[in-house]
Order: sequence, then structure tokens, then C-alpha cells
Amino acid sequence: MTDTLPAETTSPTETLEVGRRIAGRLKPGQVVALYGDLGSGKTHLAKGICAGLGLDPERVTSPTFALINEYVGKKWTVYHFDTYRLKSLDEFLALGYEEYFEGDGVCLIEWPDVVESVLPDDAIRIRLSHRTGDRRYIEFTRPGVYG
Ligand code: ADP
Ligand code: MG
Repeated sequence: MTDTLPAETTSPTETLEVGRRIAGRLKPGQVVALYGDLGSGKTHLAKGICAGLGLDPERVTSPTFALINEYVGKKWTVYHFDTYRLKSLDEFLALGYEEYFEGDGVCLIEWPDVVESVLPDDAIRIRLSHRTGDRRYIEFTRPGVYG
């Protein structure tokens, strides 16, 4: 995966393409945390990852209100989280949602900060940052260095 990131993309299509490449390296049950401001491209990267896993990227939208979207394909299931509206980790745990991290589905998590402490040790952390215009910088990150 080190040959995929870091990357600077200049369009949403390029960010989707980076997502497709990341998908090629994922294993069942992988948790992927997507850090970055509003509009940095987290959902577009999620679309690319889903496309790379054989799922329809058109179905992939930020589950800001639903908290979680589930996409079931022939080979892969993806649980797409957006914890933006989540008030606390307790709320997440009370809903039993951390159990998704244990299963075989790939978990993609937008705004992972609130669930940071329950992410598996082998979670992949990716940060997206705005650059000028339509440029976005996409890189791996570690706990505590995102922002
Ligand atoms: P987030 O989920 O981080 O809020 P989205 O993927 O929903 O971000 O939205 C990113 C927005 O930025 C979209 O409106 C998209 O068209 C725009 N955009 C412009 N350039 C890029 C790029 N290089 N990669 C991804 N999105 C981009
Ligand atoms: Mg989003």
C-alpha cells in the first residue's frame, strides 16, 4: 500500500481512483478510518474503495444521519460509518456498533475521532487535506497526529 499513498489528486475522479487502488489491498474485516475536514473527499475516497470492492459507488453517500450505511455485494460487505453527529463514544457503544469492527465486513469510518479509542490496532488511518482548488492530499496517518 506504500506505493498508493501519499497521493495528491486534482479531481474527484482521481480520488476515486486512489480509493480503487486502496481497495485492492484490503482484507475482509479491515477497518479504515478516514480523517479530514468537511469536503476534503472522505466520501469520494469511500466511493472509490467500494467501487474497487465490486460495489456500486452510486450507492455510497455519507451516512450523516443514518450513522451507518451497509452495502452488500457478491464478495464484499462494506459498513460505512459517519460519526459526525455522534455525541460520544458511549452512544456508539450503547448502539452496539463497535461489533461491526469484529466482523468480516470492511468498515469505512468518516469522522473517526470519537471512536478512535475503540478502533482495532490494525486499523488503517488515512487523512485527506484540502490543497488549493480541487487538489486534495491523501496520506496515511497515525493515532494522535490527524487534524
Ligand atoms: P467529505 O466526505 O470529506 O465531506 P466529499 O467526498 O463528500 O467530502 O466531498 C468532496 C467535495 O470536494 C465534493 O464536492 C467534490 O466534488 C469536491 N472535490 C473537488 N476536488 C476533489 C478531489 N480532488 N477529490 C475529492 N473531492 C473533490
Ligand atoms: Mg462525507
